[in-house]
Amino acid sequence: MSSEYVKRREELVYALKNLGYIRTSRVERAMLKVPRELFVPENVREYAYDDRPLPIGYNQTISAPSIVAHMTELLDPQPGDKILEIGTGSGYQAAILAEIVAPQGHVWSIEKIAELAEFARKNLERTGYSDRVTVIVGDGSKGYEPQAPYDKIIVTAAAPRIPEPLINQLKPGGILVAPVGPLPLQFLFIVYKRPDGKIEIVRDLEVVFVPLIGEYGWKNEREAIAGFWET
Ligand code: SAM
Repeated sequence: MSSEYVKRREELVYALKNLGYIRTSRVERAMLKVPRELFVPENVREYAYDDRPLPIGYNQTISAPSIVAHMTELLDPQPGDKILEIGTGSGYQAAILAEIVAPQGHVWSIEKIAELAEFARKNLERTGYSDRVTVIVGDGSKGYEPQAPYDKIIVTAAAPRIPEPLINQLKPGGILVAPVGPLPLQFLFIVYKRPDGKIEIVRDLEVVFVPLIGEYGWKNEREAIAGFWET
């Protein structure tokens, strides 16, 4: 079955390239290498190479491969980068980033739900990424000060606004990518912190993410849905 998964992975990557989601050889190589089937629960494994989000328990999802590819391209990770991810989920996005920043870079990834952090740790361990990814349980809307500043920061849950601590924890010259807006629809925002510290923000595609719940996120899911009626 594993060679069948490899074939399906290659077909998906080929399709994502044709559709323009994968634009660089770095992201292509990482998407070809990381086995998405080992980051999803067994009951949905057969759908691992459909381009869609899949349930990972606790009302959360692993994002669709096209979104992972597109956000990774926007983040422009480089070998050696220090990266912060907010919303570890399954650990798949973190593994893609770890593959690109190797051998000297590192990914710190924060997950609010302890059981999911454990699920991600196990997935990263069995796929060989645990030495390049540190999973932390906590409120990622506050960032992760002990390792700051970061070259790149990626948020994989929808925030009401770009959390201020994340902008502060980004290096000059760094890039932050985050979905911003209420449920059900948000826009991806790309924040460029210029070398002189100036901030430039670019709005990108419309996306659908679960909410970022935390001090600099939404208070709860109800507030994230109510936010829709205020916009
Ligand atoms: N990047 C993940 C992957 O590759 O599987 C998918 C992330 S999933 C769409 C969003 C995750 O963000 C969920 O696991 C959720 O529990 C988490 N989350 C929500 N609010 C958070 C917060 N304040 N801090 C950390 N994680 C949070």
